[in-house]
Amino acid sequence: MSRGKEIIESLRTLADRNYAFMHICGTHEASIARSGLRSVLPGNLTIVMGPGCPVCITPQGEIDAALELADKDCILATYGDLLRVPGSEGSLESCRGDVRVVQGVHKAVEIAEKTDREVVFLSVGFETTAPTVAATILQSPPENFSILSLHRLVPPAMQWLLEQGEAKLDGFMLPGHVCAVMGYEEYEKFPVPQVVAGFEPEDILLGLLMLVNQVREGRAEVENAYPRVVSREGNVRAKKLMYEVFEPYDAEWRGFPVIPRSGLRLQEQFAAYDAQTKFDVEIRHVDTHSACICDRVLRGVARPTDCKLFGTACTPRKPVGACMVSHEGACKIWYLYQRNP
Ligand code: SF4
Repeated sequence: MSRGKEIIESLRTLADRNYAFMHICGTHEASIARSGLRSVLPGNLTIVMGPGCPVCITPQGEIDAALELADKDCILATYGDLLRVPGSEGSLESCRGDVRVVQGVHKAVEIAEKTDREVVFLSVGFETTAPTVAATILQSPPENFSILSLHRLVPPAMQWLLEQGEAKLDGFMLPGHVCAVMGYEEYEKFPVPQVVAGFEPEDILLGLLMLVNQVREGRAEVENAYPRVVSREGNVRAKKLMYEVFEPYDAEWRGFPVIPRSGLRLQEQFAAYDAQTKFDVEIRHVDTHSACICDRVLRGVARPTDCKLFGTACTPRKPVGACMVSHEGACKIWYLYQRNP
């Protein structure tokens, strides 16, 4: 019997009541949906998606700020996923500005080196991408280069979810990519079962088994099911770089209110590279009124298929909400792999 089948058998034996575990990672969701994992789990074991897609949690006010920068004749450089996220008036794809898709911050710097125009990198992502951007800023890129920092930190969102208790959860599957950089020390303060898991279906199954065992044994600790990549202290150099350049601030997430110290902004000494300061752009809260339930999907209290627009008015070709845009978005993943869970 394969290791995966053995774990599934163990889960079927051990899952003697309802269990719900949240992951906070689009890559976990893609692996779960693509491999059909939910269909082989015991019916009383639920995997809940959390706010694990950095593009999806970027609030409308930040998309509007990016559109304002395009209006100010800046060249905008960013990842393709952000282009179709709807702002208040259109998207980066539909605007008339000069918006270019790049594979990373270094490509945006290359554009700046070859032009006299202002180039703004829309810097989106969790702790996984922020250290690379920090390293770039420390290398003193050209004066016509700046970033709009849309970075977010995972632990403050977990803290918020635990305090609110809106989604009834027995524990968390921690994101392997984020923990590879940050380690998992800072998650040890949360009084719930947590397991760092990798991204192969067997990694995820092992993570689930360890979570079920923690609940059954009355333990609440952080265990590492991904030791080939993740250590408790993480990548010390990358963390140091990140906090040399960025500092936490209170930031809004799509579907959430302002979460204390959950965003990363450039420290004052790097203000010359801060597009918000340089172009006097304000990020405002925008009230959204639509049938889209992305906010509830991101908080783990609704599934994509609970949305009446799913697969009808809202598809990857014609997305209504951010969760149908990104390849890490729950709605897009479910549309591609799991339309009838
Ligand atoms: Fe929003 Fe579309 Fe997902 Fe519905 S299916 S929650 S409209 S992104």
